[in-house]
Amino acid sequence: MRCQYVIQPEDTFENIAMQFYNNPCLAEKLRQYNGFYSSDFIIIGQPIVIPACATLHATTGAADRLPAGMQPPHGLEKLLGIFGNIYEYVDDKGCFDESAWCADMLTAVQVPFSVALSWDYTRRVRSVRCHKKIAGSIKDAFHAVKREGFEGEIVTLGDFYNFRSKRTCGKLSTHCWGIAFDLNPEVNIPGTKGCISDKLVQLLQEFGFTWGGHLKGAYKDPMHFQFCTGY
Ligand SMILES: [Zn+2]
Repeated sequence: MRCQYVIQPEDTFENIAMQFYNNPCLAEKLRQYNGFYSSDFIIIGQPIVIPACATLHATTGAADRLPAGMQPPHGLEKLLGIFGNIYEYVDDKGCFDESAWCADMLTAVQVPFSVALSWDYTRRVRSVRCHKKIAGSIKDAFHAVKREGFEGEIVTLGDFYNFRSKRTCGKLSTHCWGIAFDLNPEVNIPGTKGCISDKLVQLLQEFGFTWGGHLKGAYKDPMHFQFCTGY
């Protein structure tokens, strides 16, 4: 049994676990399986996955493989606190000092296999640029991708660091902090289900990366993973 369920008014993970597994003790694993970092964040109308009971029992909790003390921040304020206040790099005239920002915040990380760039298939890279504070998580996650056999699923890399707005509004994208990455953008079109496997999503969640495919409607972004929730 594996199905999708849409969050109803008054739902908690406890009553959903009771409804599908007759066992409210599975609430925490169900929450983690779906990549929620707190039970407070469920939204009415949001679809979640109800995996088979055995799958849930076998699941290591999401974010289990995070370094100690390194939880993804929730919301803009915490994001700015942990990964830097990007607005302090904008002068009175509205000019962004991108070179200072990049020098202070970003680093290059070697990944264990080469991947083509989505904007130039002739170039394959083994190095990506991300925020210094998640360099270890990016490295560990991509090593796990290789070790656990998902290397072939990552055909092209889209953005890692990129100073740009979100696709859906003018707010700065989490790519600006170097805490997001896009996989196979050609086939994971925003607003669609895309085709990243559940297992790859689950694996990346274990390293603290929230999947954009869990968002709703036009916000759905199946290419996108970020080390942050609630923004
Ligand atoms: Zn993205």
